[in-house]
Amino acid sequence: MSETAASTNDLSKLPSIDQLLMNDAASSPISQYGRTRVTVELRAVLDALRRELLENGHSHQDRDALSSMIFDRLTTSLNSSSIGKLRRVINATGVVLHTNLGRAPLSENAIDALVEVARSYSNLEFDVASGTRGKRGEYVESLVCSLTGAEAAIIVNNCAAAAFFVLSAFATGGEVIVSRGELVEIGGDFRVPDVLERSGATLREVGTTNRTKVADYERAIGENTKMMLRVHPSNYRVVGFTSAPTVADLATVAQKSNVILFEDIGSGAIADLAEYGINDEPSPVASIAAGCDIVAFSGDKLLGGPQCGIIAGRSELIDRLRKHPLYRALRVDKLTYAALGATLESYERGNEFTEIPALASLSETRSSVQVRANELIQKLMTSENLKVEIVNGNSAVGGGSAPLTQPETALITLDHETISAEEIASKLRANEPPIITRIEDDRVMIDLRTVAMNEESELVDAINSLS
Ligand SMILES: *Cc1c(COP(=O)(O)O)cnc(C)c1O
Repeated sequence: MSETAASTNDLSKLPSIDQLLMNDAASSPISQYGRTRVTVELRAVLDALRRELLENGHSHQDRDALSSMIFDRLTTSLNSSSIGKLRRVINATGVVLHTNLGRAPLSENAIDALVEVARSYSNLEFDVASGTRGKRGEYVESLVCSLTGAEAAIIVNNCAAAAFFVLSAFATGGEVIVSRGELVEIGGDFRVPDVLERSGATLREVGTTNRTKVADYERAIGENTKMMLRVHPSNYRVVGFTSAPTVADLATVAQKSNVILFEDIGSGAIADLAEYGINDEPSPVASIAAGCDIVAFSGDKLLGGPQCGIIAGRSELIDRLRKHPLYRALRVDKLTYAALGATLESYERGNEFTEIPALASLSETRSSVQVRANELIQKLMTSENLKVEIVNGNSAVGGGSAPLTQPETALITLDHETISAEEIASKLRANEPPIITRIEDDRVMIDLRTVAMNEESELVDAINSLS
């Protein structure tokens, strides 16, 4: 018998798409992914199998065995094609505001609040007392005001949008004075000079990279000056021979010359984090008190809430933003208001360090992480191959905040006789849910600072299945 004849014979054993779709094994994938998607995937599996049979000659499998092989492959390909679906992961990196892992996890209160308004109708733009149209975001804005001391506030999609919005509304066609030390790039696509250019304003650089004085700003102010912009160089620091004017100094100059002083604060640390080693993040409260006209900061960095950009400042200016045509394009939805409101209420109660996960993580001591690490490794099966240790190390704040702060922590290290660190990390990422670790000194390191208590048992199971 010729090889081609054998292959043709095998090919005839392959079930048709219609037969496969009617097979009992198809009903569960169809109910999960839909008929169209399953048909497309089955066609791809069949094509690949047909090619294999033609190349490798005959198979000794009967029709049923081929069918079950096809459904196995279908499951694998459906699983792997949904790997990019947005889902929970366990952050064992110790980077608290990990931008790639979604920055701040929300507090229980914030989750409850957003689920409540997601599930039903809400008073988003409705005044329940009078039964007439109400103002969107009014409650949350009032919380921002009472926490920052600002006269008025407005919320947009993120801090990048906030900065662009403020520049577009107040500086288009004019000059904006910025210190050369603050012409920074914050994470790839947010570059201060580019944002300024896009907003239609002209950049007027003053001072030097390391030192800029009040007099530099004063000298640069002219007829066309609309704004003095201060930007927090979030993710990097110039150290050594440096100087920059205080916000209060700049506010005096701005007032005298009738220009707007705007500070892009970035992280928005409302809580005092000095006790946890974070003492070089500007505070919106301090900037407003020092006379800054407008500040902008992120909702999902050190504030610990949902992604959004919070703009706070003088009410005359915030009113102009509210009436600006761009606002409609940049405003946030009800889920964001709900989550942000509940997050800010934690600050109001004075419970931010217990209720807001990012702040709870940042304030956890090394010894507390070590106690958890010790308890966790007690639950690991002993294995000849897998060496587990606890060592001292450092966590990171992340989110472009406090780059010099590295909270002390206790790390669980995994070292396997036959599996490389990269392979262990990859197996842990293949876990359900994926576990994201870091590799240092050729070992996988697990930092429990960013792992929630109720995720620890999943971590134990995943490590136990390594050996
Ligand atoms: C992080 C940051 C931004 C961007 O904030 P997003 O909320 O991520 O858009 C803008 N400016 C500064 C100074 C920042 O630190």
